[in-house]
Amino acid sequence: MISISNLHKKFGKNEVLKGINIQVDKGDVISILGPSGSGKTTLLRCLNYLERPDEGIITIDNVTIDSKKVHKKDIYHLRKKSAMVFQSYNLFQHKTVLQNVMEGLVVVQKVNVKEAREIALEMLKKVGLEQKVDAYPLQLSGGQQQRVGIARALALNPEVILFDEPTSALDPELVGEVLDVIRKISREGITMIIVTHEMNFAREVSNRVIFMDGGVVVEEGVPNDIFRTPKEDRTKQFLKRMT
Ligand code: ATP
Repeated sequence: MISISNLHKKFGKNEVLKGINIQVDKGDVISILGPSGSGKTTLLRCLNYLERPDEGIITIDNVTIDSKKVHKKDIYHLRKKSAMVFQSYNLFQHKTVLQNVMEGLVVVQKVNVKEAREIALEMLKKVGLEQKVDAYPLQLSGGQQQRVGIARALALNPEVILFDEPTSALDPELVGEVLDVIRKISREGITMIIVTHEMNFAREVSNRVIFMDGGVVVEEGVPNDIFRTPKEDRTKQFLKRMT
């Protein structure tokens, strides 16, 4: 359902992605692990063309973009296939929780306001924030703000949700509530790609783990194999440091 083929990305002379190939099936929950600077976030951002790859072909569902011949409308179609949950939440501070979740539905998907409101309320209930619909982001804890970010992504009903280190900006005591929500939606068959440093969570929630280092996929497999019997030295060293 998602195919990433020979993806390359440079920032100036810094070659951050050096030919990434990944296949994702519908319903997969994939965790991407790797040291800081290995290109994980850049990979996610290339998937929706927030970063433009230098080379490579990306397919999500029925949309394919080859970096060599990109049309604006392809980017528009590709972006509609995914929704991103950002490390720093990226909520509109001057809009309420409900308005934040409705925004993409109304503005991008042209859903009418009444229906958008119903969908947004349903998603806010799913992340346990039905009591906070009229609050503004700054009145919420970081964990609650991130749950709004997740409700906003769910509301768009995308083919895939891309999580970019969703808990790394949170105080430790708030990490659990966000992981609980992601764990819950992972059981609903939604395709997810999660960049995370939470090793135990990755092990528990994903059906496949990808380890990246230095802009390449070093190793991938089912969590038990990667965590218990990693094959590559770089994976072994990383896991030793992290667990
Ligand atoms: P972390 O776990 O620390 O978030 P990461 O694996 O997600 O790391 P990236 O954020 O993808 O890594 O960054 C990979 C490299 O690309 C880093 O060296 C970073 O400085 C560089 N980089 C990322 N975005 C840009 C940008 N917009 N302009 C220039 N360099 C960038």
